Amino acid sequence: MDLFSINSIKAILQRHGFHFSKSLGQNFLTERFVCEKIAELSEITKEDCVLEIGPGIGSLTSELAYCAKKVVAVEIDKSLLPVLNETLSSFDNIKVINSDIMKCDLPSLIKQEFDGNLPKVCANLPYYITTPIISHLIRSHLFTSITTMIQKEVALRICAKAGTSDYGAFTVFVQYFTEPEYLFTVDKECFIPQPKVQSAVVRLNMREKPLVCPKSEDMFFRVVKASFAQRRKQLANSLFSDFKNEITKEQITNILVSAGHKPTVRGEELTIEDFCTISDEIFSIYN
Ligand code: SAM
Repeated sequence: MDLFSINSIKAILQRHGFHFSKSLGQNFLTERFVCEKIAELSEITKEDCVLEIGPGIGSLTSELAYCAKKVVAVEIDKSLLPVLNETLSSFDNIKVINSDIMKCDLPSLIKQEFDGNLPKVCANLPYYITTPIISHLIRSHLFTSITTMIQKEVALRICAKAGTSDYGAFTVFVQYFTEPEYLFTVDKECFIPQPKVQSAVVRLNMREKPLVCPKSEDMFFRVVKASFAQRRKQLANSLFSDFKNEITKEQITNILVSAGHKPTVRGEELTIEDFCTISDEIFSIYN
């Protein structure tokens, strides 16, 4: 069965009475080379277990199954199950689970399906929920890498450097836990239906330990969130907005200056190491 010809995709979907759901972010890949490239660049081998999120009609799933020991694909849309049953029938190393990835008990799933071995994630993520899914997967600490197609704009944010307009709180979060790599850009023409925006594939390699080691992770992420809450504001003002009932503006300015910054510095100019230094200084005021 050719999962990469528009006519055969339409015929399979019609036979099963399937209708695309915009709200579930259903844009299916129609180009074999894109699926092959995602599978290749996710560096999956026959030793690897893979968790796929949102198999759709199984185009990427089948490419992953050629490379991997086992693929477990979690699909929220029940109406795709008979389609997947047909398109993936020749594989004996794929299991499809009908569930919302955000509600899955990931530790039990990994224990049951992969004998406790940490899998790699590979996906063409639904765009309506990209950042919550990535955050959920990273926070679980259950995967060795996450290779995924996402909106190009989000990929640029994830891989951004300090001092650029794409750099923000999500950049810091992802780079704290992973080493992200921008792999390649994918045109709208590679999907049915075509999305409105361009896409890109990134690989997030989980770090063995976070990039920096703050005294308090909660304080580190509170400082990062506050620093980017109002991008146009100077950092001292953004931090003061969040901490005003706890520390004085003067204390904040002193911390910034003694860390080597101008009092007028903006959040987006700070590296992840700078955020760690500042959050440690704020933390030590309380302790
Ligand atoms: N992997 C397929 C491909 O590349 O052609 C389909 C990708 S499509 C962008 C996203 C898929 O994720 C759809 O099949 C959609 O039904 C599914 N999906 C959406 N939300 C989901 C969720 N919360 N949990 C699991 N699957 C979800």
